[in-house]
Amino acid sequence: MQCPFCQHTDSRVLESRSAEVGRSVRRRRECLQCDRRFTTYERIEFVPITVIKRNGDRESFDQSKLLRGIVRACEKTGISAIRLEALVDDIEAEFQQRAVREVTSNEIGEAVLRHLQSLSEVAYVRFASVYRQFQGIRDFVDELNHFQHRVSQVKLAANLEPSNSENSAHGLKMDEDLSRLMTHLN
Ligand SMILES: [Zn+2]
Repeated sequence: MQCPFCQHTDSRVLESRSAEVGRSVRRRRECLQCDRRFTTYERIEFVPITVIKRNGDRESFDQSKLLRGIVRACEKTGISAIRLEALVDDIEAEFQQRAVREVTSNEIGEAVLRHLQSLSEVAYVRFASVYRQFQGIRDFVDELNHFQHRVSQVKLAANLEPSNSENSAHGLKMDEDLSRLMTHLN
């Protein structure tokens, strides 16, 4: 690291401290030639990850999308949202360490399972049952998002339904659909 004052290339580290919640390291240095002090930041190289979906489509890795899927599958398992966020961070960090930043949706699912296994048996079993059900049908994250979309549409339709007898029967049917959909994931 070149000294910003005299361009000398050797310095000694006076102090190292992690910054940005562990994502980078801040080092206070002293130039070995001019004795002046400066600060450097060291951070892990961050390259976007490409996800290869089951149908061959490619999209960039979306942390929040993955988190939504996991949170939904782990509802009522007692695992905090913060813990699940950390899990998603860990998984992304794993993929970041690959020589080629590409990952299949299948590998994402397996990584989630592996991490949940050490976290909570209940969460593991529940996520596995949801995940395996979707396997071979559609990308599981897509499916979960699709599901959420359907739930909101059903809710919307149920709310907008006028309350005459024919339509309230229809509304009831929608409630049944909704609860069936919910059972599917709970
Ligand atoms: Zn210097």
